Amino acid sequence: MQKTPKKDKEVIKVIIREYQKNTLPWYIGYSGGKDSSSMLKLVFNALKQVDSFHKPITVLYCDTGVENPIVTTYVYETFDKLKSECEELNIPLIFKIVKPKLEDRFFVKVIGRGYPTPTNIFRWCTDKLRINPVKQLIDKNEKAVILLGVRSSESEQRDRTISKHRTDNEYYLKQSGSSKNIIFSPIINHALEDVWLTLRYNELPKSIDFNQIRTIYQDAESECPVYRESKGSSCGNSRFGCWTCTVVRKDKSMGNMIENGYSELKELYAFRNWIAEFRDNTKYRCSYRRNGVKGLGPITLEGRKIILEKLLNTEQLSGLNLISKDEINRIYELWEVDKTNLNYQENALQHRV
Ligand code: SF4
Repeated sequence: MQKTPKKDKEVIKVIIREYQKNTLPWYIGYSGGKDSSSMLKLVFNALKQVDSFHKPITVLYCDTGVENPIVTTYVYETFDKLKSECEELNIPLIFKIVKPKLEDRFFVKVIGRGYPTPTNIFRWCTDKLRINPVKQLIDKNEKAVILLGVRSSESEQRDRTISKHRTDNEYYLKQSGSSKNIIFSPIINHALEDVWLTLRYNELPKSIDFNQIRTIYQDAESECPVYRESKGSSCGNSRFGCWTCTVVRKDKSMGNMIENGYSELKELYAFRNWIAEFRDNTKYRCSYRRNGVKGLGPITLEGRKIILEKLLNTEQLSGLNLISKDEINRIYELWEVDKTNLNYQENALQHRV
């Protein structure tokens, strides 16, 4: 018989206490990664000990459309299994998947508008792809509690960010830029090994499987934030981030996954490495910025056409669905707009697509 670790028992008590405290709805930020999975396990076990449920608890996953396909498949399957398990055990968790609006999708921005793929300096993606879709849903409430699997021992950078947002209650953090919602982080005091113990020694829910997470998650990496402002550490080297991420020069985790047998990622990895170089090729950059000022501007129409061709080719080679019809149609519309934009006329005439 597996035994719930002592630290987890204490956290479960905290979760029950906080749940019963008021009627504010709860939203659980879930990425499929180790931290949010262990938090979800603890919330599930806390709810098992509660007699009456007086407020909704929603588990939220943001599918950016460019998630690592191995992880997305795992999360969708886990969601399905969790739904059945919750029904069986009368745990009233609601599961919701949100997506960025069409205009904000990764390829609409890069291929449609000519955004260079994200860098540490120009990291336009986190808000658009991850934070806004979650925020839009949560902000429909007057006030809500957001449960995040953040831990103070995760990294020095994360620790500094957490210190800035501390409240009187050690488990709560203020949300930057808004006083409306509050962040509740039940595993804030969990060290890395505690997280793995939580995953391993809490039998329920069975749908969150220690071995399965362990297999796709061999090293400890950071996760892209699901709710907080995007000032924290980069999520670019995480298995639980975008396969297109160019914030880091080298995506070690995808390379490792390929070595470990996920050969379907090969083509995606090659595309990512190619676009990271292509982004910096000034031959394919407009000489005016979007604000009309002379300087390194968006990727030219010719460059965008090359990227789309390469992406469609990657899609064919990998057999994976990498871009939707809606996104392609929107990209064509945006190209038409740029062809007639005076700021881009020089490029449009030179690089008509
Ligand atoms: S994983 Fe990379 S590309 Fe995706 S949102 Fe995070 S920083 Fe941006």
